[in-house]
Amino acid sequence: MEAILETRAVELGATILRGHELTKIAQNENSVVATAGSRRLRSRYLVGCDGGRSTVRELLGIEFPGLAGRLRMAVADLTLTGPAPTEWSIPEMSPRQSGKGYLAPIGGNTHRFLFYGPEQSELAQDAPITIDEVNRALTASFGPEVTAKAIRWGSRFTDASRQVSTYRHGRVLLAGDAAHIHSPMGGQGLNLGVQDAFNLGWKLAAEIKGRAADGLLDSYQAERHPVAARVLANTRAQGVLLVPDEENLALRAIVEQLLELPEANMLVAGMMSGLDICYPMPASPHPLLGRRLAGLEQTDGRAVLLAARDTLRASVAQWSDHIDFVVTQRDLDADAVLVRPDGYVCWAGSDVTSLMEAVTRQWAPRDPSVTS
Ligand SMILES: Cc1cc2nc3c(=O)[nH]c(=O)nc-3n(C[C@H](O)[C@H](O)[C@H](O)COP(=O)(O)OP(=O)(O)OC[C@H]3O[C@@H](n4cnc5c(N)ncnc54)[C@H](O)[C@@H]3O)c2cc1C
Repeated sequence: MEAILETRAVELGATILRGHELTKIAQNENSVVATAGSRRLRSRYLVGCDGGRSTVRELLGIEFPGLAGRLRMAVADLTLTGPAPTEWSIPEMSPRQSGKGYLAPIGGNTHRFLFYGPEQSELAQDAPITIDEVNRALTASFGPEVTAKAIRWGSRFTDASRQVSTYRHGRVLLAGDAAHIHSPMGGQGLNLGVQDAFNLGWKLAAEIKGRAADGLLDSYQAERHPVAARVLANTRAQGVLLVPDEENLALRAIVEQLLELPEANMLVAGMMSGLDICYPMPASPHPLLGRRLAGLEQTDGRAVLLAARDTLRASVAQWSDHIDFVVTQRDLDADAVLVRPDGYVCWAGSDVTSLMEAVTRQWAPRDPSVTS
C-alpha cells in the first residue's frame, strides 16, 4: 500500500524524504515551518499523519482525550515449527482461559499471532517480544504441540481509545492515528485513516489553489470527526465482548444470533467497512446524497457530474478545472449527480440553480489574480 501511494505521489511531483524526524513546528497566519534534523520546510499547511504517538500533536500541545487501555496485547509474525492447528486458529472463548491467541496465515510460511494474557499485562510496552514468550502464549492457546521457531517482527499494543476534539489547529491538520486510536478489533484503523486523507486531500488542494469555498476545509472536521467517533464506539463495544466472563458469554451468544439476521448483519458490515458513511449534505433528501458512489473511476482529482443527458454540460463548463462532465447510461435515480473528488455524492437532481448552489458550496469562482 505504501509503495502504491508513494508511486502515485512521485508521479504527481511530490518529494518523499525518509529518515527526517520532525522535531519542531512553528506556524503563523501565512505558513508553517517544520524542522526535521537540519532541514527546515516551509509550507502553507502541514498535515500530521504521524501515528498514535504523533509528534505533531504533542508539539502543538493538543489533548488526546479518551479511555486508557485495559488490555495489553502483543502481535508477532512467526514461522511455526510444524503445521498450524487450523487455517485460521481462533480458540473458543472460555471464562476459565487466562490467555488467548489468534493465529492467521499471512502468506509464505508466515503466521500472524495476536495474543494476550497475564504475562503480556505485566510486561512493559517497550519490552522485546521473545520466542520463549511467544511459545508460552502458543501453548496456552493451542497446546504444547504448536510452537514457533522464528519471529520476523513483533509489537505490543493496547485497546486504548482516544480522539482529538479538533482536527484543525490553524494551518496544521491531523489525520489517521494521529487524530484517533482504538483497539484493532475489526481491522478498521487503516481504512479510517486513509479515508481521512481522501476527505482532506481535495479540500486542501482547492484551498491551496485559491478555489475553496468558505468553510470547505473546515468541513473535514465536520465530516470525519463523527466517523472516527463511531469507530471508537464500535471497537469499545467489541472490546467488552472479548472479556471472557460468564455474563459476556451470554451477551456474545445473543450478539451471534442477531448477526445471523441479514439486516443486523448488513448494519454491522456497513459500519465496520465504512461503506455506510453518509455525510450530512445541506440539500433535499435523495438516497445517494452524502453517500459514496461505488464503481466510479476518478483519476485526475476532479469531481464528476454524471448525467443522463447532455443538458447540464454548459452550466459546469466554467468549472471544468474542478468538474468533469460525463454522460452515463447508469441508473442514478436522478437526472444527474455531482460526485466529489473523494467519491461522495454532493448533489442529485435536474435543476441548474440547485446544482450551482452545490458547486459554489465546494468551490469558489476563479480569481483572475491567482495564476496557479
Ligand atoms: C496489532 C494491530 C493490528 C492492526 N490491524 C489492522 C487491520 O487489520 N486493519 C486495519 O485497517 N488497521 C489495523 N491496525 C491499525 C493500523 O495499523 C493503523 O490504524 C494505521 O497504521 C494508522 O496509519 P497512520 O498512517 O495514521 O499511522 P502509522 O501507520 O503509525 O504511521 C505513522 C508514520 O509517521 C512516522 N513518524 C512518527 N513520528 C514521526 C516524526 N517525529 N517525524 C517523522 N515521522 C514520524 C512513523 O515512522 C510512521 O511511518 C492494527 C493495529 C495494530 C496495533
